[in-house]
Amino acid sequence: MIDFTQFKSVISVINHFNNEEICKQTLVEVRWGDDVVCPHCGQHHCVRRADGRFRCNKCKHNFSCTTGTIFQNTKLPLQKWFIAMYLISSHKKGVSSLQIMRDCEVCQKTAWFILHKVRSLYGQNDATNLKGEVEMDEMYLGGREINKHESKKTEGTQGRSTKTKTPIFGMIQRGGNVVAMKVDDTKGATLMPIVSQFVESGATTYTDEANIYHKLSENGYEHLFVNHSQREYVRANDIHTNGIEGFGAHFKRVIFSTYHSVSKDYVQRYIDEQSYRWNTRKWSASERFEDMFKKAAKSFAYTDVLSLSSIVDVVAWKTKHDSYYWAGKVA
Ligand SMILES: [Zn+2]
Repeated sequence: MIDFTQFKSVISVINHFNNEEICKQTLVEVRWGDDVVCPHCGQHHCVRRADGRFRCNKCKHNFSCTTGTIFQNTKLPLQKWFIAMYLISSHKKGVSSLQIMRDCEVCQKTAWFILHKVRSLYGQNDATNLKGEVEMDEMYLGGREINKHESKKTEGTQGRSTKTKTPIFGMIQRGGNVVAMKVDDTKGATLMPIVSQFVESGATTYTDEANIYHKLSENGYEHLFVNHSQREYVRANDIHTNGIEGFGAHFKRVIFSTYHSVSKDYVQRYIDEQSYRWNTRKWSASERFEDMFKKAAKSFAYTDVLSLSSIVDVVAWKTKHDSYYWAGKVA
């Protein structure tokens, strides 16, 4: 089995995966080991053909090590994919498509395509349950009305309105993991089922004074809060929401500095990426690369993979400054 601890830098990745055959071999090894399973029907012990592909003796389909993965039908050498995966997994603030374009010598459209496919792997994370002390907070992503082009402004809003922004809800276990997601709105009725799903009953929850959190104590949680509107940010040393606010501020900074703008449709992918980085912050670069490699080698639900046509559309949109919007400064 391949030893991932050897990948301490991008140089070691380039040196190890120096030809397409080794890349494919490693993918087969990590994906199936000795037991090649048909991605079409699940039949075990499929046979290798002379051309390096596999054949299922049950459904008679031919397939390769990339069938059903994010690499399916790629015309790019796998080495470039692996280098990109290493760069994406090792940079704390993430990498832009421009950076991938330069480092992997691909065009920007391809770089953008790689980034989104790799980013979609993060969403496949098994969500962890939060317990003990859990902070929660909501935040809004989106440009200020005053900075928008006339045609993009929304009537009846005055810059500070949250009407046109994307609400995000985040929960963090103190000293542990974060779970965050794009939500339709920040009403109690929307947020409470999410809390029940991710936070173990009996946990101590910390929030601000907003009404939406008033039902926490009825739902089996201890509930402590600070009164932000009264300029109270910490009470009795440990009642605060500084952890989740720190994550939110970091997320906005990354969006602003690395990606500049984010399409509303893909906000969840960026949230997944930053949550993953946060939750694996104590791992080494090689551990994170190993985890990403194993995720990438898994069979993928086809609907999760962006089709090339939709990406071309988005790139065309972006050039017209349409549909993209600026991430606002931290409010
Ligand atoms: Zn089969």
